[in-house]
This record gives sequence, C-alpha cells and structure tokens, in this order.
Amino acid sequence: MTQPPKGRRALVTGSFQGIGLAIAEALAAEHCHLVLHGLGNAEQQEAACQAVTKAGAMSVECHSHDLSDPRQVESLMKAALSGGALDILVNNAGIQQPAPLADVPADVWDRILAINLSAAFHTMKAAMPGMAARGYGRVVNIASVHGLVASVNKAPYVAAKFGLIGLSKVAALEYASAGSREQGGVTVNCICPGWTETAIIEPQIMARAAQLGGDRDAGARELLREKQPSQRTSQPLEIGQLVAWLSHPIAHNITGTAIPIDGGWTSQ
Ligand code: NAD
Repeated sequence: MTQPPKGRRALVTGSFQGIGLAIAEALAAEHCHLVLHGLGNAEQQEAACQAVTKAGAMSVECHSHDLSDPRQVESLMKAALSGGALDILVNNAGIQQPAPLADVPADVWDRILAINLSAAFHTMKAAMPGMAARGYGRVVNIASVHGLVASVNKAPYVAAKFGLIGLSKVAALEYASAGSREQGGVTVNCICPGWTETAIIEPQIMARAAQLGGDRDAGARELLREKQPSQRTSQPLEIGQLVAWLSHPIAHNITGTAIPIDGGWTSQ
C-alpha cells in the first residue's frame, strides 16, 4: 500500500500569496513540511506562515530570493536543501507584463524568461537528483493556458510558458524510471490555469474595465466571455488541491503532462 505525502518536504516558489499560497496550504493539509518562498514584506511572510501552520503543516520555513537572478535561485536552493531533502518542488513564481511584441523592452523579455522559465531549470537541476536517489519526487510547474495556446500582447509570457512545458516533458522522460510504484516514483507535470482570481490578472481586468466605463465586474466578465467557456474563474485552492493529489504515490504514472484548469479555454 502506498503512503500519502504526509511528512514530505515541499518547496513552493512564490508562495506568500495567490496560487502559490493555496498550493502550500493544500500540501500543509496533507501534513507536509513547507518551505515557503516569495518577495513579500515581513507582514506577508508572517501571514503566509500562519496560514500554512493553521492548515496543518508539520513545519514551516520562509525564504526570500529574487528569482530573476540565477545566483539568487542558487542561494534559495542551497538554503532550502540545507534544511533537509526536498521531496516536492512547485515552481509557481511568475510575472507577466502584457504589451505588443514590438513594444516589449528587451529587459522585460529577459526578466519574464528568467523568472517564469529559467528559475525552474535551476531549481529542478538542484532538487531532482536527490529525488531520484530516494525513489520519490514530485515537480509541479505552474505553467498556464498560455503554455498551450497563444494570445496577443503576451510574447515573453507565452514563450516562457511553452518553454516551461517543454522543459517539464524532458525532465519527465529523464526521471521516468526512478523509484518504484511503492515509493511513488519521480514525476514532473505542469498545471495550466486559465483565468484564476489572483493579483496577477488584476491589471488586465482593470484595463478591460476602463474600456467599458470603469466597471470592474464588467471587465472580468468580458475577459471570461472572450476565452473561458465556463464563464467562471478558477480559485487558487482548486489548483492547490490538484498539486496535493499529484503528490500522492497513486499518481506515480502521471508524468510529462500539461493539465489545463481552464473552463474549456484550450478545447476551442
Ligand atoms: P501572483 O502575482 O499573486 O503571485 C506571483 C508570485 O510570484 C508572488 O508570490 C511573487 O512574490 C512571486 N514572484 C514574482 N516575481 C518574483 C521574483 N522576481 N522572484 C521571486 N518571486 C517572484 O499571481 P498568481 O496568479 O498567484 O501566479 C502564480 C503562477 O500562476 C504564475 O506562474 C502565473 O503565471 C500562473 N498563472 C496564473 C494565472 C491567473 O489567472 N492568476 C493563470 C495562468 C497561470
């Protein structure tokens, strides 16, 4: 009989808020040890620690590193691994800055690619050999519908998310034979959210609202109407629950996938 993820040690990047915090809470509810990370201030860090402790984490530690800088990603991984082996790695931190391709400054391209794609390469490189040696590991990369289909004005974001899915598939293949059914194996998957209620989509809602006379709800409805057939946003906890489920040994043979949570967006 396979064991639940209880007692596993999980790093979730960008977990002081939004989807990352919900993932951390879902893993805490499975009684994992949580390594939180983000760029927030002391108050946000404290609030995230409290939320994760309340959700059932066996322990919580916090790190703050800017993932746009590969040296800081390396420092994060050294710090995280110095506290114990990592069984679960969730690359969630991400940014986006919509603009037509011709107007995207080169430094914005570099920054989006660094945070949304290259940081995951560095964290996986550091964490995955240990997972293979122990026969259990889970990497869940938070991509996007924009890793599966494109939209205008999102060139760096779409390029990074398509890249993240490609990177995940290669890692899934390279580690597919590690471990056993009983141990849980080492899997690498992407989750591809559509519109999900967090801070990252607020500027887009407000931009659309401005075109419609300033009504925020009308702006949100218009974004959904355009792309997400369910006409419902997702909530971060729905993504968190999927990460928790993928972390169970029962999911040992689910690897190399890119799972949409998008109300039908990418079925069109
Ligand atoms: P969010 O803005 O609430 O969270 C983003 C997180 O990334 C924050 O914790 C932030 O501290 C962290 N971060 C940003 N820049 C960083 C940097 N330089 N170094 C370290 N950490 C950094 O947004 P969210 O919606 O929770 O986003 C989480 C992930 O979900 C992102 O990868 C995003 O692309 C993806 N996503 C979100 C949606 C959506 O509709 N909300 C849809 C598809 C994909």
